[in-house]
Amino acid sequence: MQTKAYAAQSAAAPLGPHTINRREPGPKDVAIEILFCGVCHSDLHTVRSEWPGTQYPCVPGHEIVGKVTGVGSEVSRFQPGDLVGVGCMVDSCRTCSACQEGLEQYCDGPVGFTGTYNGPVGGGENTLGGYSAAITVDEHFVLKITHTENDLAGAAPLLCAGITTWSPLRHWGAGPGKKVGIVGIGGLGHMGVKLAHALGAHVVAFTTSPGKVADIKALSADEVVISTRPEEMRKHAGGFDMILDTVAAPHDLDAYTALLKREGTLALVGAPPTPHPSPAVYNLVFKRRAIAGSLIGGIPETQEMLDFCAKHGITSDIEMISMQDIENAYARMLRSDVKYRFVIDMGSLK
Ligand code: NAP
Ligand code: ZN
Ligand code: ZN
Repeated sequence: MQTKAYAAQSAAAPLGPHTINRREPGPKDVAIEILFCGVCHSDLHTVRSEWPGTQYPCVPGHEIVGKVTGVGSEVSRFQPGDLVGVGCMVDSCRTCSACQEGLEQYCDGPVGFTGTYNGPVGGGENTLGGYSAAITVDEHFVLKITHTENDLAGAAPLLCAGITTWSPLRHWGAGPGKKVGIVGIGGLGHMGVKLAHALGAHVVAFTTSPGKVADIKALSADEVVISTRPEEMRKHAGGFDMILDTVAAPHDLDAYTALLKREGTLALVGAPPTPHPSPAVYNLVFKRRAIAGSLIGGIPETQEMLDFCAKHGITSDIEMISMQDIENAYARMLRSDVKYRFVIDMGSLK
């Protein structure tokens, strides 16, 4: 199927109109008309080749919501008209222990999971993502969306920003009686604040942007700290069970490990293109603290998070843009000037 999309032709080229070919649904496939797609900082890292391995043309986008337009003969869970989501993955080996446990993002198969964009497919092609009018995806990687139609655009960022914060919050036990820090209040961070609060934790947001403080309290943070003010940081020394760091640029981690309780964890999800300065060992060894990482989340936990959000009325705070505004949105994202996620109205592609 000839499908309209937006692509970068090289690391230096701005995104522009491009036509791609989507496969006709095979027996297990779901064909989806894309209604909205969130704009993740990973899209920008990828199209500009900040991470290694970008293949061009590159069509980014992995926060997809849309409507089912057709299903293959063996699809049992979806029918035309259903509202659905697609996140960061469209395939994995399905047989390794990680896949069997529903942790497809950690697939141990020969090529790991297949990303929704810039992932390998047979014959040397790459997968093409959600900055497009339609996509065809195996039903295993399609999520049910139970938010109301009015909340669809705000649900799109849950497919990456939501699950990438939900998975570590759950893994490290964010909940009642726990003090949880969220560092960097952009797309991921603002979802981290909402989700940690909804899970019952005491939530402290760390921001470099004094202009965001009132907003961040409104997002449901119990406290907001300006991380560039050492006296504000010191007040929280030794207080945290876990801190989730979503920052997209290299920065000093010691400022955060010092805030952890004994055996607390600093979980990194931000993926800067160049390394953080090496963290000090003494902050870790004296209190058996840990620095850890976490990658998106598996398909079952993504569905669990979507259902939790629908039940609790949780969506992302978004600014809607047209596809044609994408370069301006990237420029603003680089200035930390987004409240708190850009979402593309795919109607603008028609
Ligand atoms: P984003 O919307 O740009 O938010 C990042 C936030 O970090 C900014 O809003 C800003 O918040 C803070 N920040 C930016 N530059 C900073 C700097 N130099 N020093 C300190 N703070 C800074 O990005 P996002 O979409 O949330 O993505 C964040 C990162 O997570 C990206 O690297 C992305 O690739 C990665 N990511 C990882 C996964 C995973 O599975 N691990 C999944 C998705 C995305 P304040 O204004 O509040 O300081
Ligand atoms: Zn993402
Ligand atoms: Zn696998």
